[in-house]
Amino acid sequence: MFDPDLLNTLRKARHIAVFTGAGVSAESGIPTFRDAQLGLWKQFDAARLASPDGYLADKALVWGWYEWRRMKVLQAAPNPAHLAIVELADQTEKLTLITQNVDDLHERAGSIGVIHLHGSLHKPRCFACARPYLCSSDIPEEPADGRRLEPPRCEHCNGRIRPGVVWFGEFVPETEWQQAEIAVSTCDVLISVGTTSLVWPAAQLPKDAAQNGATVIQINPDETALDRIAHYNLRGRAGDILPGLAEAIRTVS
Ligand code: NAD
Ligand code: ZN
Repeated sequence: MFDPDLLNTLRKARHIAVFTGAGVSAESGIPTFRDAQLGLWKQFDAARLASPDGYLADKALVWGWYEWRRMKVLQAAPNPAHLAIVELADQTEKLTLITQNVDDLHERAGSIGVIHLHGSLHKPRCFACARPYLCSSDIPEEPADGRRLEPPRCEHCNGRIRPGVVWFGEFVPETEWQQAEIAVSTCDVLISVGTTSLVWPAAQLPKDAAQNGATVIQINPDETALDRIAHYNLRGRAGDILPGLAEAIRTVS
């Protein structure tokens, strides 16, 4: 069912980089960016909800959206795709997991050292002084359709708290970016899972890996901007294909 050359390449790989996007969490019930927004959020576009200007224009609208999303994520559980990446890591000398996701489903599945290129829903900070804000790990009790919610204030400078995610127009965190660049320049194989490969600079990583001689494997039910660069395009859901791959490698190795 899988190309034997693909399985051989994976078995021989000493360093696999896995690069994930919103699609890897879709089967946990977390909507991707391109899925229609729900409830109160239906009428707002991404620029309004995910940019510094949008936050400054209406902090309660934006903070309410992120608290609602944090609730959805904490109510969700890792799916077979998250778990298969942990299994792949166990079967490989070295695996580096780079994610664009702001949820913690990889960590809850058991992945270690996850590189979060776009920050985390679970690490809010002060908009003014950037100090971290310790939020409760309890599941927020937000209404099913969401609501506007004033962000809390920073205990150091009284500034407003903002979500700890990278918004449109913001830079990706430097340390994480460097770690990701090292991974794509040293891996033998890069597996891109559930991402449109449109958000920059993250979308550059699989291309860099290919340029550095790595085999690039893509898992996605739809066509993406990476199709013509990937050496293997595996069409389907991450929760079906990744466990299948892990199993295929295990049974012959
Ligand atoms: P995207 O929403 O633009 O694209 C999702 C991709 O996943 C699409 O290509 C789609 O075809 C694919 N997909 C859908 N279901 C899938 C499945 N079951 N298996 C495999 N693939 C599937 O997401 P993106 O490319 O990650 O970029 C959007 C930005 O939005 C990112 O920066 C990300 O941080 C953010 N985001 C994060 C989350 C999250 O943390 N869970 C959710 C939504 C958006
Ligand atoms: Zn502050």
